[in-house]
Amino acid sequence: MPIKNPVVANDRTYPAPKTCAIAICLDGCEPEYLEVAIAEGLMPTLKRIRETGTDRLAHSVIPSFTNPNNMSIATGRPPAVHGICGNFLYEPETGQEVMMNDVRFLRAPTVFSKFYEAGARVAVVTAKDKLRALLGAGLKFDEDRAIAFSSERSGDTTKAEHGIDKASDWLGMPVPEVYSADLSEFVFAAGVKLLKEWKPDVMYLSTTDYIQHKFAPDEQGAKDFYAMFDRYLTELDAMGAAIVVTADHGMKPKHDANGDPAVIYVQDLFDDWLGKDAARVILPITDPYVVHHGALGSFATVYLPNGCVVSEIMDKLAKIDGILTVRDQHQAKREYDLPADRIGHIVIISDENMTLGTSADRHDLSGLKEPLRSHGGLTEQEVPFIVNRVIDLPNAPTLRNFDAFFYATTAAALEEVPA
Ligand SMILES: [Zn+2]
Repeated sequence: MPIKNPVVANDRTYPAPKTCAIAICLDGCEPEYLEVAIAEGLMPTLKRIRETGTDRLAHSVIPSFTNPNNMSIATGRPPAVHGICGNFLYEPETGQEVMMNDVRFLRAPTVFSKFYEAGARVAVVTAKDKLRALLGAGLKFDEDRAIAFSSERSGDTTKAEHGIDKASDWLGMPVPEVYSADLSEFVFAAGVKLLKEWKPDVMYLSTTDYIQHKFAPDEQGAKDFYAMFDRYLTELDAMGAAIVVTADHGMKPKHDANGDPAVIYVQDLFDDWLGKDAARVILPITDPYVVHHGALGSFATVYLPNGCVVSEIMDKLAKIDGILTVRDQHQAKREYDLPADRIGHIVIISDENMTLGTSADRHDLSGLKEPLRSHGGLTEQEVPFIVNRVIDLPNAPTLRNFDAFFYATTAAALEEVPA
C-alpha cells in the first residue's frame, strides 16, 4: 500500500509518491560522459528521456566527494545539516584521523528513514559498503519494508541487518570485485529486480566512480559503462517509475602533459613554513579504496597551530599556482554550507587540473595505471539532473543534486505518465 500523506524530512516536504520514486546517483558522472555516450548512440533511453522529460544541470555540495554528496542526497540537505563532510575526519581532541562512515557522525535523519516511519517501503542499494550504514541509518528490517545493502558485501547480507538474505544469490549475480564496473552494474540489476518484485515506494541506487577515475568520456571503458547503464534505465523507466538521474560530483583530468599526477603537497609546504607537523593537513577523500586516485583530490582542510596568523597563511597559499581558492573556517561554513567544527581552520581548493596531497612520501601512486582523474573542488560541482517526467525545475546553481528525492517524489506524485 503506497503512503497517502506527504513526508517531512529535515524541514522539506516530500509528496506522497503514486509510483516508485527513484534517485540514481551515478558516481563521478561529469556531464561530458553522457554527452559523448548519447552522441555515439549508446544511450537511446536517456536520450529520449532528455527530450521528453526534464533535462537540467545541478550543483553538488563542496567538497565534491562521494560521501558528503550521497548523504546530502539522502537527507535533502547540505553537510552543515547532516555533518558528513568527507570520508575522513580529524579529531583534534584525540589527535586521531577517523573514518566518517559511522552513523554516530550523522546529524540528520535520512529521507529514507522518514518515509519508512511514514509506512513506505524503502530500498537502498549502494556499490561500496562504506556508505551502506550511513544510508541505512534509521531503517528497521523486521517488517519487510526496508532493504539496504551494498554490492561489495552482497554475499553476506542478512534479513536482520539488510532486509534481505544473501543478496547475490537472490539476484543470481556473483559478488563483484570492488575495483570494477560490475560493482555498479550489480546496483542497477538489483534495482530492476527490486522494482519488479519487491515494489518499493522510494528507492536509491548509488554506484562507484572506479570507471570514471580510470577513463575519460571518449574512452571505451567509459562508453561501455554508460551503454550498460542505459539498458537498466530502460527497464526501470518501462515499469513506470519516476526517476531522477544525477551524480555526486563530476570528474576532471588531474595530470600533466607526461601523464604524471599534478599535485601540490600541502603538508610539505606547511612543514617548511611552520616546522615539521606543526600544522595538520587532512585530505577528506582518503578512504580504504585509494588505488584509483592515490588519495589525491582537489580539496584539503588544515588544522593550524596556536599563534599562527591565519590570514597570512591564506595569502601565501592563494599565491601558489594551481590553488583556486583558500577559505577560512567561517567563509567555508557560509559559502559551502559546511559544518564548521569538522573542517579545520582553513579549506583549500585546487584548480581544475590540479590536486592537493599531504606529503610526497605519504601517497602511494603505484596503483595509478592511467593518468590521474579526480574531483573534490569547485570545478567538479556541475552534474546532470535528468527526470523522466515533465516537471518544473530550476537550473544550476539553484538546483542541487540533493534535491533529487524532492523532485523524484514530486514526479512520482503526478497523475499523468508521459507516453
Ligand atoms: Zn563519488
